[in-house]
Amino acid sequence: MPQTLGNLFILAAPSGAGKSSLIKALLEKHPSTDEHNNAMQVSVSHTTRAPRPGEVDGVHYHFVDHTEFESLIEQGAFFEHAEVFGNYYGTSKIVIEQTLRQGIDVFLDIDWQGARQVKAQIPDTATIFVAPPSKEELKRRLTERGQDSAEIIEQRMTKAVSEISHYHEFDFIVVNDDFAAALSELDAIVTTRRLRKEKQIIRHQQLFDNLLGS
Ligand code: GDP
Ligand code: ADP
Ligand code: 5GP
Repeated sequence: MPQTLGNLFILAAPSGAGKSSLIKALLEKHPSTDEHNNAMQVSVSHTTRAPRPGEVDGVHYHFVDHTEFESLIEQGAFFEHAEVFGNYYGTSKIVIEQTLRQGIDVFLDIDWQGARQVKAQIPDTATIFVAPPSKEELKRRLTERGQDSAEIIEQRMTKAVSEISHYHEFDFIVVNDDFAAALSELDAIVTTRRLRKEKQIIRHQQLFDNLLGS
């Protein structure tokens, strides 16, 4: 894929570490058009998991059944897909590419397997691992979120260890202890990525033409 103005970010973490809360807060901090016209969007994945109470189709996920998901795989619709907790999750290719081309930053909230697949296709992706401050706090957050049964929470805690074991594969690590501090660290990563020469050349081409013109 050619260089685009939009930046691609991946946030991965064990379930309950605070990825969704951080992305949501970051999007609220950066309304769709800030002074440099850098909009941000979070990619809406497809999943075969059942919606949780309050989750809306097309907003939190595109909820599809196994047959539909497999047919999307066959059509090559996914940028990456993975099986997590016995369900399929996947990121739509066309939506990501179009959004980046429009100069919009895209956030993917995906697991380490997906992060690896995307990084292999777009090495320019900034991959960020969000770590919880402790195992006890992770369990407390999963329990307090009140979305999953005790059995599912145990499953997610077991899975957390395998997710965390991949932390060294990421470009950035944010420890989500104090929420505001983690959010400002995430914000700093975004700003740094936006200021890279490759992006600034696209963003400010006219400025440099003018500065260098006679
Ligand atoms: P969702 O989109 O409804 O799942 O919202 P979130 O996952 O972002 O947040 C769920 C709830 O946790 C909301 O009531 C938030 O206000 C609350 N929350 C988010 N971040 C924090 C935090 O850092 N500390 C505490 N104590 N609560 C938080
Ligand atoms: P994930 O998307 O990684 O599964 P969530 O964003 O749903 O995680 O966060 C899990 C729970 O932990 C939510 O109830 C959220 O409000 C809470 N939470 C997130 N970050 C913090 C934090 N820094 N301190 C305390 N609670 C937090
Ligand atoms: P949850 O069911 O809690 O929403 O998500 C479970 C896990 O699946 C999380 O680790 C999340 O990051 C991951 N996930 C969500 N969407 C995708 C996706 O499109 N691709 C991949 N590979 N993982 C995803």
